[in-house]
Amino acid sequence: MKNLSTIILLFVLLSVDKTVQAQVPTTKDTIEGKNIEMLFPGGKTKALIISMDDGRDTDRRLVVLLNKYGIKGTFHLNSGKLGTKDYLKKEEIKTLFKNHEVSVHSSNHPNLTRLSIKDIRNEILSDRTVLEQLNGNIVNGMAYPFGNYNDTVVAIAKECGITYARTVEDSYNFSIPTNFLLWTPTIHQFGKAYFTPNDSLNNQKELALFYTSIKQFLAADTLALLDVWGHSWENDGEGNRWLEMEKFLQLVAHNLTICYTTQIDLVNYINAFKSLQYSINKRIITNKSSIDFFIKRGHKSFTIKAGETIRFTE
Ligand SMILES: [Zn+2]
Repeated sequence: MKNLSTIILLFVLLSVDKTVQAQVPTTKDTIEGKNIEMLFPGGKTKALIISMDDGRDTDRRLVVLLNKYGIKGTFHLNSGKLGTKDYLKKEEIKTLFKNHEVSVHSSNHPNLTRLSIKDIRNEILSDRTVLEQLNGNIVNGMAYPFGNYNDTVVAIAKECGITYARTVEDSYNFSIPTNFLLWTPTIHQFGKAYFTPNDSLNNQKELALFYTSIKQFLAADTLALLDVWGHSWENDGEGNRWLEMEKFLQLVAHNLTICYTTQIDLVNYINAFKSLQYSINKRIITNKSSIDFFIKRGHKSFTIKAGETIRFTE
């Protein structure tokens, strides 16, 4: 298990520069010198996650855009705010987010680090409960409200059955986070443009950084995950942000090398991938799960179907 985790998740940061850099997976040689590397679902070398918080009514406009370009979104919702001014209505959640992920963001969007253990638990569990009822599906992903967390919050999230929890700490890289409960996204939508009002110089600089990152992701020739986070309501601010959002989606849409996924689907895939069983010489691989997996062995790609065992002769 430890070796496999190393195979899947060890990445070397190419640069300490702020710009996003492609990652080179340092897969561990097997006895016969063949590298085994996880590929994303569908055998893709790239994966894209769009991770949006709060469940404001502007999500409707974003979902229209995502659907137009065949891109999946992950939406972290505060169920206690649904139905209030500027927020989505409870009765539209299931239909609106069909083909997208609905995820926990706490019931009322408090700073969880300031709450008692009992209240943290209530904020997470009540949100899960209501969202599962509205969505008719298991809801076990999360984004920390305000991005705030501490050891207690992380432990309670785990205890409440949360599989991953996204922070707001941009990684500026394309690697898969090693701790899914401290999930670092790649970059905020448009970088940190518009963070300061009327600072057009900074806006230009951050927008340039954002598009440079997207280009680097598209040009990556090794396993690369792009996770863009933000809020649909930000697009209503100064500038032409809805146009920027569509421009970004156009850049990443309809690309055969990209797996368009929700965060929970990717997390479930990676977690299940760890259940693959290997012979000592790594020539026999058994998939006892119900998921088809995709691997790269040496320079070739293979599918290991659910329930299948594959044998390599060399
Ligand atoms: Zn939020």
